[in-house]
Amino acid sequence: RPIVAIVGRPNVGKSTLVNRIAQTSDAIVHQSRGVTRDRSYHVADWNGREFTLVDTGGIEPMKSDDVFATSIRDQALAAAEEAAVILFVVDGSVGVTEEDESVARMVRKLKKPTFLLVNKLDNPARENDNLWEFYSLGVGDPVAVSALHGHGTGDLLDEVVALLPEDAGEEDEPDTLRVAIIGRPNAGKSSLFNKMIGNDRSIVSNIAGTTRDAIDTVVERDGKRYRMVDTAGIRKKSTVYENIEYYSMVRGLRAIDRADVALLVVDASTGVTEQDQKVANLAIERGCALVVLLNKWDLLKDDYERDAVMETVDRRLTMAPWAEYLRISAMTGRSVHKIWDMVDAAAERRACHITTSQLNRLLTDMREFGHTVSDGKRRLKMHYVTQTGEKPPAFTFFVNHTDLVTDNYKRYIENRMRATFDFKGTPIRLRFRAKK
Ligand code: GDP
Repeated sequence: RPIVAIVGRPNVGKSTLVNRIAQTSDAIVHQSRGVTRDRSYHVADWNGREFTLVDTGGIEPMKSDDVFATSIRDQALAAAEEAAVILFVVDGSVGVTEEDESVARMVRKLKKPTFLLVNKLDNPARENDNLWEFYSLGVGDPVAVSALHGHGTGDLLDEVVALLPEDAGEEDEPDTLRVAIIGRPNAGKSSLFNKMIGNDRSIVSNIAGTTRDAIDTVVERDGKRYRMVDTAGIRKKSTVYENIEYYSMVRGLRAIDRADVALLVVDASTGVTEQDQKVANLAIERGCALVVLLNKWDLLKDDYERDAVMETVDRRLTMAPWAEYLRISAMTGRSVHKIWDMVDAAAERRACHITTSQLNRLLTDMREFGHTVSDGKRRLKMHYVTQTGEKPPAFTFFVNHTDLVTDNYKRYIENRMRATFDFKGTPIRLRFRAKK
């Protein structure tokens, strides 16, 4: 999915704009259902074109001794480098500031399609006076927007999606599985990667990915091919962004976008962190199967420590209770060989197809034994269900009133589906359509 990055100095209204775009009819389709809603990434759909909206302003600088790592400008740069289109937001009520100019220098260097959005022009009579001074930023025609009131958001989205590249559609042999290794810096991703591809001659080739400097590694095992997605950052560490947790998020995001299966590497010596939750949410949002690898298991000294880790897994990976996990050590090699089978199994379930008659048998059961949903006046009737997508499996329920389907009820249905069919390791999507 192409990335649309929102950049600009603090307080110009970037997150208001994101919210505005989110509220614009049906723009945002998926939101993470997990414990922490990731506020910085949104998968948006406008007229059938999907893109990922990255709000560089919503990201709080990581606490770090490294001053460089906390710099907002570098975070923005990292996101912008991955972007297909840049939305550069400035504050029309203040005029051009030095900070705007420094952001503009960065944006100009990137040479990407850019929209210069002048926000907070609340006096239409003076709009043009204030607009023209932003020409001096040298990034094209300034466009007046109101993040607060939403004027022109739809038109803006029309223009944005028109500039998005067509899906690259890199074709593999159909049986090549795409695998992304994701996780926090120092979780052990590169150690694991090296261990997984091992000493043998399993690497078939390195292929340049679609995005600049993305390198995929194709691995063959037991006659099966795996494409390890975006391994550039894993094999040879980027020196510039080394310490930026945020950058690794953006990088992970890009890898996840092209993957069938995400291997989430968690540092078991610290347990599941908030950052791990975010990355897990992103993978699920994008429909990847998920395998959780509890790495550095060798560092845990006793049962007490081991229980403590599992407790963080239970408590913090509630967005994916269906994910399988494995205790591994990239250092000693413990259980690393089991990963491939788990990848295969998760991918298989992600590609599964459930027949309509099986689904409707479940629906009949649910009618008989499920609880009824009503708002006092109307009662929810589910007429029919059928699988409408795969990788990940998506199911459409035809119901009498879609507004009666609450989030709770959706969870209930998902649980029933998971209890009936084997969806271990894969997210599933449920959609509801009205049908009288
Ligand atoms: P990455 O940033 O996620 O790629 O992490 P690295 O693979 O560079 O690993 C970070 C550090 O953790 C390195 O010092 C590794 O040697 C160490 N490490 C990785 N996996 C393990 C493990 O399973 N056990 C132990 N004890 N150390 C590990």
